[in-house]
Amino acid sequence: MLQPRQSTLKESPGMIRTTCMAALGAALAFSVSAQTVKVTPLGGFDGEFCAQDRALIFEDPNGTRILYDPGRSVAGAADPRLGKIDVILASHLHGDHVGNAHTKAVNAGTCASPDMSVSDMPNSNAVNIAVAKKSKIVTGSEMPPFFAAKLKANGGDPANSILARFGGSVTVGGVRIATVTAMHSNGLDPDYIGGDLGKAMKDAGIAGDVGLPTGYVLRFSNGLVVYLSGDTGITADQEFTVRNHYNAKLVVMNMGDGFTTGPAEAAYVINELVKPASVIASHANEAGTENGKVRAGSKTEAFAKASKVPVHVPLSGKTMEFDAGGKCTAGC
Ligand SMILES: [Zn+2]
Repeated sequence: MLQPRQSTLKESPGMIRTTCMAALGAALAFSVSAQTVKVTPLGGFDGEFCAQDRALIFEDPNGTRILYDPGRSVAGAADPRLGKIDVILASHLHGDHVGNAHTKAVNAGTCASPDMSVSDMPNSNAVNIAVAKKSKIVTGSEMPPFFAAKLKANGGDPANSILARFGGSVTVGGVRIATVTAMHSNGLDPDYIGGDLGKAMKDAGIAGDVGLPTGYVLRFSNGLVVYLSGDTGITADQEFTVRNHYNAKLVVMNMGDGFTTGPAEAAYVINELVKPASVIASHANEAGTENGKVRAGSKTEAFAKASKVPVHVPLSGKTMEFDAGGKCTAGC
């Protein structure tokens, strides 16, 4: 209920100072929340959303650039689209996320079956990019020692491999990075190990243990909180932790089915568990678009139709901007 305005109070100098400081604080808060986080997909085909696309660059308003799951669509460390990379995130060590191989060039192959003919074994695309760019690699679970060893073996600094285990977080370049549960698997291909041990493991059909796979929650300097699902099924933590504790407003949701939540399961996560303001589809494992438009009958289309909040399709090279509330303000 509105109260009638009191006009009998006289303003003292102290009151004026307090009022001015409050106004300044409000203006600063407004200017920070009005800043946007830029999200640029580095997919396999310019202007499309294709089968192997996972990589996204997040750019904080303060200029910090974070590369999420470089996978196979980034054309190696020399890919000119990368620019400066301060932090690399790897949700888990499956080849399509960490990059056991990569495309020989952007737009090589087809959207449904991209070229990924350049091997990155035994390093991974992520490690090669980290060494070239002197990036930090922030991972959870048991993955940091693996990345530290790979960095050291390739002339990088093992101290650049940083741990953020479940429930903890690290702040790098003004962005707070936490890891959260992902229900998936995280076997390390024995080809990363090599030698007699790698061969024996391969012959026996067993993978290396690098702990649990993860998702991420990022808090950017403008206040935007983003949940990166990684490869996962439906988890209770999506409501309990990602929504109730972290209050994520933008989600990058894997929805390709078979290996992760399919369109219906992913839409349930969005509509009932996390309830963000908007979502970016990821991990289609098929051509999601044709000529830049969502392909009829695709899983991307099914997910977009089932989601109650706007689904933004990550078209490679097209930068989207999100405000603190998770609303797309440009490029969507
Ligand atoms: Zn996986």
